[in-house]
Amino acid sequence: MEIDDRESRVTGLLLGCAAGDSLGLPGERLGRKRWASRFPGPLRQRFLFGHGMVSDDTELSILVAQAVLSSAGDSESFLLSLSWRLRYWLLFLPGGCGWATLRAVLRLWFGVSCRESGVKSAGNGAAVRSAVLGALFPDPVERRDFVRLSTRMTHRDERAYVGALAAAEMAALTLRIPIGRKPEQEEVSARLRMAASGDAEWTELVDRMETGWRNAMTVEAFADSLGLAKGVSGYVYHTVPVAVYGWFLHYGDVTATLESVIKCGGDTDSTGAIAGALAGAAAGESGIPPEYLDRICDYPWSVTFLRRLGEQLARFSKGVPATVVPTAYWAIPFRNLLFGATVYVHILLRLLLFWR
Ligand SMILES: [Mg+2]
Repeated sequence: MEIDDRESRVTGLLLGCAAGDSLGLPGERLGRKRWASRFPGPLRQRFLFGHGMVSDDTELSILVAQAVLSSAGDSESFLLSLSWRLRYWLLFLPGGCGWATLRAVLRLWFGVSCRESGVKSAGNGAAVRSAVLGALFPDPVERRDFVRLSTRMTHRDERAYVGALAAAEMAALTLRIPIGRKPEQEEVSARLRMAASGDAEWTELVDRMETGWRNAMTVEAFADSLGLAKGVSGYVYHTVPVAVYGWFLHYGDVTATLESVIKCGGDTDSTGAIAGALAGAAAGESGIPPEYLDRICDYPWSVTFLRRLGEQLARFSKGVPATVVPTAYWAIPFRNLLFGATVYVHILLRLLLFWR
């Protein structure tokens, strides 16, 4: 019973991440108003003929998850495994690789140690792949260690670590609370504050979140209060607070969370991936609307693959022997070619539609 529940939550986290990522992807970098005019109505998959593909946000979460499984929770092996997974991931020319992650992985290829490869960036590249670590490590010390190892490999700025830890802490807290119940706001705030106790900018963000939740402020209004009325940027202190704010405001409601967060515009695949992962973990696999998953058309990163991965991650987190999920690597170049071509079509459409 307990294993089933954990499996449903961990799988929910992965599927929620993929759903949010793929729903947000077609409108990535569109401002809030343009999002609304380009994609009116309820959120649905619109990347490729009414279907969705996942981007780097989900891929990076998969890499982290597989690295944990292959290392059986040993930090040194995790570091090595993740560094090689990132190197090979880049070789396949992923369509949506962030600038900091790209530079860091190139540094890995040029022989820089995986403890030194991170670049000075406060982007959200490490935060988008961290919720899964929160779900896998109930022990706070171990959780922090793994988040730091994962973050430092690509991002050296302390703020990137704070954002990544905040996402992991929220996932860990979610998994402790039974489905149907909501965590206490005091505990959410305390964990967020703990992520960076001496950082005034972060503390002010947590203050704003608390005030917003207390006054039932909408996610849009919260984003406005951070100066993000035109869209949520890739700065980790913008992306993570908006995603976390939406997750807790609409706790357990995947649709309301993703609708409210993604429609703020900006870096919508990343805000969608983080909010979706947290909302999916809160609601469990069965709480994710089937229409969000039925239209994900991707390979090897399919819904079936993510369910298999969720099953193994649940085993790992229960201390039962777990294995890396076999991946059809041969398909990745073809998949990335299709992904890249579709992104270019979207860019062209934007130019045609908006340069009138
Ligand atoms: Mg992306």
